[in-house]
Amino acid sequence: MRLCSLYSGSSGNCIYVGSDRTHLLIDAGLSMKKIVTALDEMDVKPEDISGILITHEHSDHIQGLGVILRKYGIPVYGTPKTLEAVSQYKGLGKVDFSLFHGVEPEKSFAIDDLWVKPISIWHDAVDPVCYTVTDGDKKISVATDMGDYDSHIVDALSGADAMLIEANHDIRMLEVGPYPYELKKRILGRYGHLCNEKGGQLIRELLNDHIKGIYLGHLSKENNFPELAYEAVKGELFGNPYSSDVRDFNIMVADRFGISPVIEC
Ligand SMILES: [Zn+2]
Ligand SMILES: [Zn+2]
Repeated sequence: MRLCSLYSGSSGNCIYVGSDRTHLLIDAGLSMKKIVTALDEMDVKPEDISGILITHEHSDHIQGLGVILRKYGIPVYGTPKTLEAVSQYKGLGKVDFSLFHGVEPEKSFAIDDLWVKPISIWHDAVDPVCYTVTDGDKKISVATDMGDYDSHIVDALSGADAMLIEANHDIRMLEVGPYPYELKKRILGRYGHLCNEKGGQLIRELLNDHIKGIYLGHLSKENNFPELAYEAVKGELFGNPYSSDVRDFNIMVADRFGISPVIEC
């Protein structure tokens, strides 16, 4: 399987997950042109995408969806409440709603040779989820936009061969930064976003002896730096049974503006 962050960050998100046969996108939060350009760099044709998995209805996750659906007619999967919210998104435009498929959190479903599982998360959207995707052998976990996590989420994401986990902000930068008080409170709250340290703590719980690569994703533009996220996460990894391992787990900060190195597993 392959995991590739096409774009990740507070300005727009689109993540590729696929097998040799089946190609999926998680979210479509950039223009169609940008998404198609990124797919082209991976040698994947947009008409070969079997499904778009939607995590939640915030615009940085669905901005490009309407245009893509009108051009390519790709099936869309999300929880019924999320799809309802997406259908009311002003930027969506006219789309064929028969492409929308409601899925339930905690219930795996098949798209061609892949099994997809949505998992409920804490975020200030109507019914947000993160996703795991497996071909029965390898597993990929992608989880961003969450203010907190619990043992259920850890269990659901664990055993992954590749993953993308949120490292949204540095708490100090956020606190002293320009955001209004209410927005700061939102981001720091249980329904907001994972700070670098908390993202690192989640990754520490998910490390295993077969993981091939980890992206740190959904970095805030105003309240984080890639180097800061990387160092803060690395600093949280001690104390795990695998952290004395000589490997560095191939941790990379996912690129905000374009495709990141593909993780093959
Ligand atoms: Zn987001
Ligand atoms: Zn969000």
